[in-house]
Amino acid sequence: MMGSSWFPACLVASSIAILPPPCGGPSAGSRATLPAVYELTRVIATTHEVSLKGGNRRWFERRLTANVRRALEGLPVASVTRPGWRVLVSFAEPVPFVEAARRLGTVFGLNAIIPVEHLGHDLGGVKEALAARLRGMPARTFALRCQRSDKSFPMTSVEIEREVGGAVKAATGWTVDLSRPDTTVHLLLDQNGFWFWMRSVPGPGGLPSGTGGRGCCLLSGGIDSPVAAWLMMKRGMRLDLVHFHSVPRTDPASLEKVEDLARVLARYQGPCRLAMVPLLSIQEAVVSRCPEEYRVLLYRRFMLRLATALAGRFRSTALVTGESLGQVASQTVENLAAVERVTELPVLRPLIGTDKQDIVDLARRAGTYEISILPHFDCCSYLVPDRPATKARPADLDAAERELDVDELVRQALQDTEIRKLREPAPWDEIPPPPGTEEIGE
Ligand code: ATP
Ligand code: MG
Repeated sequence: MMGSSWFPACLVASSIAILPPPCGGPSAGSRATLPAVYELTRVIATTHEVSLKGGNRRWFERRLTANVRRALEGLPVASVTRPGWRVLVSFAEPVPFVEAARRLGTVFGLNAIIPVEHLGHDLGGVKEALAARLRGMPARTFALRCQRSDKSFPMTSVEIEREVGGAVKAATGWTVDLSRPDTTVHLLLDQNGFWFWMRSVPGPGGLPSGTGGRGCCLLSGGIDSPVAAWLMMKRGMRLDLVHFHSVPRTDPASLEKVEDLARVLARYQGPCRLAMVPLLSIQEAVVSRCPEEYRVLLYRRFMLRLATALAGRFRSTALVTGESLGQVASQTVENLAAVERVTELPVLRPLIGTDKQDIVDLARRAGTYEISILPHFDCCSYLVPDRPATKARPADLDAAERELDVDELVRQALQDTEIRKLREPAPWDEIPPPPGTEEIGE
């Protein structure tokens, strides 16, 4: 039964192929006996930028649909279709909305996730169904918004709004308020008939994974770099991940922590590689032969060299880091410039202008935060000086490195690198559903 809530806690979706379109509608006041088809049905997800991509549109759309299917694996999906700029998911049997939303919330390129009811083609049936559906709900004012993408329908969207709005008014006693309504009733008319919804949750936005080239992200166990990876994935980039460690001087458990972070990220893009690169020999060489104030910057230069070599192996054409301007001494603009000299690849820093609190908010949204805050010992904390240089010049670092056999140190670290293939992403319950998902149904 529908209960007195706006949406039942467990929204269900049914197959468009299996269920006949309900044209007649139930009789007024019979909400407790509504046929199953009037329970919350399918899920529509909207797209925005994807529909703007001119010549590439088909390719983008195919990627998006494939990504939606991958995210829904294990749920009873009957079909995934693309009516217009939307993605319509139909399930063969009831699925809790929170599950569908959690999974669709990992598909970049989706803008809004909407639990919809199918109301059939007949306007009379739509009016009756809405009257029955809305009567008794807690609101005093409403707005009815209709989008009409089936231009063959004999009425305009404004005419439909007037007519259906009148029926809602008569059935509920609500008054129309177009600027600040208590509730908004949405109707969409397309080739499949009328669709109805009142609430939606935000999708993750961005562009479909796999449409933005390939990159290699330097993934530490901290808060920032997983967010940097997530943001580049959001722009469609496919990433492989590189982690540097100082085992056995640091706890090997920190590698598992990084792998857990990578598994969360894999939910957003599918399987990826995680290279575990030993940095300890390099760090020992730097500590014994180079000026103390440059240690962290020299570690960083080696990281970029090693990541560049791995990027070649992974066919990546960019590096990604979680650096944010001024966050720590190594992240002054002078230091960033002096370090990045050693790579020809572009170093993408999606967090460069982002405040820490905003990064934390994004980490919570992505589902990496709770793992990131577990205690761990980052290799960069190894013998870090009290007064690191804040304005290093490239020539200073070049001079320091003359004391080292850079090529041999890089060669050895690459030889000892372990590449893990992450095929098993994090369990779904570690991935937060989009904000507001729980409220639908209360
Ligand atoms: P994070 O939360 O990402 O660790 P941070 O503020 O601690 O960020 P730093 O430790 O200065 O920053 O590192 C800056 C960037 O260098 C990281 O965001 C990451 O991209 C890279 N990096 C640092 N340490 C490692 C590591 N052990 N393995 C891989 N990348 C690293
Ligand atoms: Mg760090």
